[in-house]
Amino acid sequence: MSADIDFRRTLAFDASTDIGPQPPPQLVDLIAKHPELKIFTLTSPYYQDLKAIWSLEFNTNEPLAVIRVTNASEVSTVIKFCVDNSLPLTVRSGGHDLLGHSLITGAVIVDIRELNQITLSDDKKSITIGGGTQTGDVVDFLDAHGLVTPCPLASVTGHVGWAFSGGFGPFVNAFGLGVDQIISAKVVTADGELREAEGELLWGIKGAGGAFGVLTEVKFKVYSLSKMLGGMLMFEFDEGEKVVAGAQTLLDGDNIPSQLSIGFHFTKRGGVQTLMVLFSWASTDFEEGRKWLDKVKGLGTVMKDMVSETTIKKWCDMMRPMLPLASYNSSRSFFISELSTSALQILVAAVTKVPQGMDWGIGLFLVRGEGIKPQPSSSFILREKYVFLHALGPVKEKERLAESKEWTNEIMNEMKKEGLVKANYLAFSGPDISSKDCFGEEKFERLKALKKKVDPGNVFKNVPAQLA
Ligand SMILES: Cc1cc2nc3c(=O)[nH]c(=O)nc-3n(C[C@H](O)[C@H](O)[C@H](O)COP(=O)(O)OP(=O)(O)OC[C@H]3O[C@@H](n4cnc5c(N)ncnc54)[C@H](O)[C@@H]3O)c2cc1C
Repeated sequence: MSADIDFRRTLAFDASTDIGPQPPPQLVDLIAKHPELKIFTLTSPYYQDLKAIWSLEFNTNEPLAVIRVTNASEVSTVIKFCVDNSLPLTVRSGGHDLLGHSLITGAVIVDIRELNQITLSDDKKSITIGGGTQTGDVVDFLDAHGLVTPCPLASVTGHVGWAFSGGFGPFVNAFGLGVDQIISAKVVTADGELREAEGELLWGIKGAGGAFGVLTEVKFKVYSLSKMLGGMLMFEFDEGEKVVAGAQTLLDGDNIPSQLSIGFHFTKRGGVQTLMVLFSWASTDFEEGRKWLDKVKGLGTVMKDMVSETTIKKWCDMMRPMLPLASYNSSRSFFISELSTSALQILVAAVTKVPQGMDWGIGLFLVRGEGIKPQPSSSFILREKYVFLHALGPVKEKERLAESKEWTNEIMNEMKKEGLVKANYLAFSGPDISSKDCFGEEKFERLKALKKKVDPGNVFKNVPAQLA
């Protein structure tokens, strides 16, 4: 019945059906004292849709209720109530956490998708967005003003959730990571107070995100860019090693413009191994951009050239139908030092093993330029040349999850064996990955000290960053 409802927008609420006649006893006081809260329990016709997240593995989890907060004061009320009554809670935004942190059995889900307002500063250099705003809405809003901000091509993620633990996308070298764009943030902490995050707290949020509270509002840097040169180049797969190594050498040369970002996607489509090179030129100087495009095209035999003068909005919109739908998955994402011969051999071997009909793939970005500029205001781990690697093995049938896990684990283990893994990406880390491996020892210890101070009871424990 909810097929036509866009849950990113304001959702009508009817207490008689959404709370129902027999609410969970743990919530009776909250309901009595705060009739304004939109509380959806098991009996609500929207409950199943509201709790659903991208990762199907966790969709059988049954929360106590989903509370759709509409402002920071409601966030504060819910946090205080949960803490006072020892109720577990978690925060749900875009629902793309792969390890199910936003859907926990028995917890109150603080659904922040209605915190979705966007405002542009007078000088057009920043936007302030609600903590639950989706990337697609940010991209659309900025496009109407001839502006951009770093974003993933998978624009279905919550923008704050995408940005705060790193945030990789096609502007990585031109403007930096998502986390580098965060100027300031408002956060409701475990004591229920709404604070302007400053100093150490802002440093911690810019890397470990939701471990310190609910970010209700975040200010991001934006950039003037009415058009760009962007798209995919499909290369002859057999030339993959040569093309990728060549692109890496190209980006490591002298006087490389930071407007240039290059990524790769290794996959198998219709039984055929495929290598796509992602080309992103973040400037309207198309003459110069085409010179760099020609250099990349010259690295091998181009089977299909899909690069065009475009906008990031058009690119995201074009990608949307191709994104993997909600799946069981076994994602692994980590950072490697370089695309060495052995790294490339591991990738090529992995693609060969993708079973027929499976949309599994490995995405990579060569992180350079603004992406590796020192950022003392952020707890994100790496600020030296590296390669972002993301192996995604989505499956529709639970029975095939083990097979998919074996595939992604093998990629990670082989890379580790070769000594190539520098760190893990927090956004994709699970119980078998220590948060220390996502931050490095020094930052991890500093984050733990901050956590002890800001959230001593570990109220915000259902997040990727495990700091308690
Ligand atoms: C299909 C797919 C494609 C992806 N593509 C990319 C990519 O290209 N680049 C990249 O870097 N990452 C990518 N990711 C990773 C994704 O950005 C992260 O998983 C991100 O955390 C998702 O945020 P969300 O709000 O959608 O998810 P949610 O599950 O709603 O939230 C993720 C975590 O952050 C917390 N959280 C979210 N918002 C807030 C807030 N405002 N305050 C406090 N806590 C909050 C939640 O509690 C949860 O622990 C992708 C993931 C998927 C599934």
